[in-house]
Amino acid sequence: MSGLPNCPECNSEYTYEDQSMYVCPECAHEWSTTGADEAQEDERVIKDSVGNLLQDGDSVTVIKDLKVKGSSLVVKVGTKVKNIRLVDGDHDIDCKIDGVGAMKLKSEFVRKV
Ligand SMILES: [Zn+2]
Repeated sequence: MSGLPNCPECNSEYTYEDQSMYVCPECAHEWSTTGADEAQEDERVIKDSVGNLLQDGDSVTVIKDLKVKGSSLVVKVGTKVKNIRLVDGDHDIDCKIDGVGAMKLKSEFVRKV
């Protein structure tokens, strides 16, 4: 990854892109990605909790306990999830977890393996 500007507020190099905004995780500053390539708007970029780019077929681990909606099941932190599929929406990862079944995860709660 390159091309992301440092944060103009605190000069952090850990900035990331969120839709049409740059976000600084250190001071929570957000600013517009003006001048970004227009083509990027169509291409949805989904990143994990630490900023790794996620792709269909990737394997991830869950970084916090996640309750499964509509059941008493909990996906434990550290659970390995294979062969994810990226989808649109609030929960942007579609996957199947052993012992739980098909469910959706938020990319911010996983980490690429
Ligand atoms: Zn900052």
